[in-house]
Amino acid sequence: MIKTSNRSRTKKVSVLILLSLYPLISSFAFHAHGYEADTFQFSGERTMNLIRKQVAFGPRSPENAESKENTLQFIHDSLKPYTDSITILPFKALGYRGYNLLANFSGRSQGPRPKLMLGAHWDTRALADRDPNYLKRDSPVLGANDGASGVAVLLELGRLLSNSRQAVDVDLIFFDLEDMGGINGLPFSIGAQTFVEKNPDYRPNAGIIVDMVCDKNLRIPKEINSFNAAPEVIDKVWESARRQRAEVFKNEFGAAIIDDHVPFLASGIPVVNLIHYPFPRYWHTSDDTIENCSIDSLEQVGRVLLDFVSTYQSDANGSAATSKLD
Ligand SMILES: [Zn+2]
Repeated sequence: MIKTSNRSRTKKVSVLILLSLYPLISSFAFHAHGYEADTFQFSGERTMNLIRKQVAFGPRSPENAESKENTLQFIHDSLKPYTDSITILPFKALGYRGYNLLANFSGRSQGPRPKLMLGAHWDTRALADRDPNYLKRDSPVLGANDGASGVAVLLELGRLLSNSRQAVDVDLIFFDLEDMGGINGLPFSIGAQTFVEKNPDYRPNAGIIVDMVCDKNLRIPKEINSFNAAPEVIDKVWESARRQRAEVFKNEFGAAIIDDHVPFLASGIPVVNLIHYPFPRYWHTSDDTIENCSIDSLEQVGRVLLDFVSTYQSDANGSAATSKLD
């Protein structure tokens, strides 16, 4: 008797618990089937796979023609289904042949829209000239972090930009020949410099370069050239970081770094550089491999870029509304 009575009480309790959990259970069921909800999130896991694919092609430096061709094709084909237009821009500079790639994502709002540029270099360094092992210094860097990570973040963003139209126009630019600096007396950022020279009418409202953004201990302080020349863009990025609770963004100053933002800054276009600093120990060594990368770091950077892009128009609207009131 007591047992039965107990059992029936237990049953009742279980039913009550089940009933009270019902909204929770049904929402789990919704999420299990609501696949679309997930596709609007920046996925660090997808981004990590995009790094893996680039690294599998091998080093993307000038003497690795086949890896370069395959990687360029991969970037192109990854974006093609998502972008409004995509253009490969071949160039010759300082005795080298290079290929920049530009993909456009038109915004949804009517009339003139602000344009944002997000860029990354897709080449990798021809020499691991900081390798602790002298014998490895003549070999090229694999560039999981220095090259592939920035590209992967932009590719994943491209997918999201097509899934959910932004108010602003967004261009993704993949620059070649960034990392030849100091090799045979060459400068850094040959591809970005050439792009800026060849396209004097290209004047986005703001831009961001991402470089070396996958490390497990990623830290992104405010790069000095960016802060000096484009403090308003730095402020907006760090506001996005605060909103997204992205703790890899540090509220402190880094160093002045030469990267693909510099040619833009030199022609008065506010483009900032998001880069790991101090550089990780494997920078420009044979150890720049995917084992150093973290899904969480990639996800933080991606979420911040998406926040930056999706909040940019509302600020522009805000200032437009203010000027109407005047
Ligand atoms: Zn580099």
